[in-house]
Amino acid sequence: MTGVRPKKSLGQNFLADENIASRIIRSASLTKDDTVVEIGPGRGALTRELAEKAGRVIAIELDERLAGHLKEIIGNPPNLQVVAGDALKFPYESLPGKVKVVANLPYYISTPIITRLLKAHDKISSMILMLQKEVAERLTASPGGRDYGYMSVMVQFHAEAEMLFTVPKQAFTPVPKVDSAVVRLGLRDAPKGISDPVFFERVVSAAFSKRRKMLKNSLKNSNVIPPDRFDFLIERLLASGIDPSRRAETLSLPEFVLMTGILFENRGL
Ligand code: SAM
Repeated sequence: MTGVRPKKSLGQNFLADENIASRIIRSASLTKDDTVVEIGPGRGALTRELAEKAGRVIAIELDERLAGHLKEIIGNPPNLQVVAGDALKFPYESLPGKVKVVANLPYYISTPIITRLLKAHDKISSMILMLQKEVAERLTASPGGRDYGYMSVMVQFHAEAEMLFTVPKQAFTPVPKVDSAVVRLGLRDAPKGISDPVFFERVVSAAFSKRRKMLKNSLKNSNVIPPDRFDFLIERLLASGIDPSRRAETLSLPEFVLMTGILFENRGL
């Protein structure tokens, strides 16, 4: 099976370093009470040890060549369920209880997969994800820096995001162009003060739509402020301690929450 040609189009850079695999799995602090969802098990670099440590493993693999052989490659663990399919389409919401996600993600769709998993945040207690290093830096970035943007705010809205360690590209076969990093996302209840998470997402998206511009210019003509209430709402933001002349990248998560509340309550609808 290891003779199957890796498909670049599916992000198939397989982890070839067992020490790193073990370190990733240790980061998940698994017990036999845990159900793990692994996205993209590939040739099973993580899966065998996941099945040893967790009570149950659900491994979702898009490449049928790999999904069809995974069980036999890693010695048929009885607690492993292989799902041949697209992790973007998996019905996470119908999982019976909370799961831990552990994955060396296919990098070409890491952002859509994280966005999809965050939608199912009620069903997930934590995620240990190996990502392209630049993406990992964005997810864990603090306000003020160039890495801090839409994904930092959306991820940190749902989770404590922590950079765990970096992984050199030589740890994979075939060797990719970029280094990787492992992050831990500890899911928590959404911060209080948000009655409409979809509106929050629209505000964050509008705020970062023109990154180099002042907030008031990014929000102008966006779908989060009715044009006839623009001046009023900009005044309200200023009065609440959020200077609309600042750039989105300087706003902390609590400030995004506060701003969303002000815009939501004063939409005049
Ligand atoms: N876990 C393995 C490892 O660490 O060696 C493989 C990781 S490799 C970076 C990503 C894996 O995700 C590949 O096996 C690839 O076929 C699979 N994959 C790609 N797109 C997928 C999708 N939409 N849904 C599920 N699996 C996918």
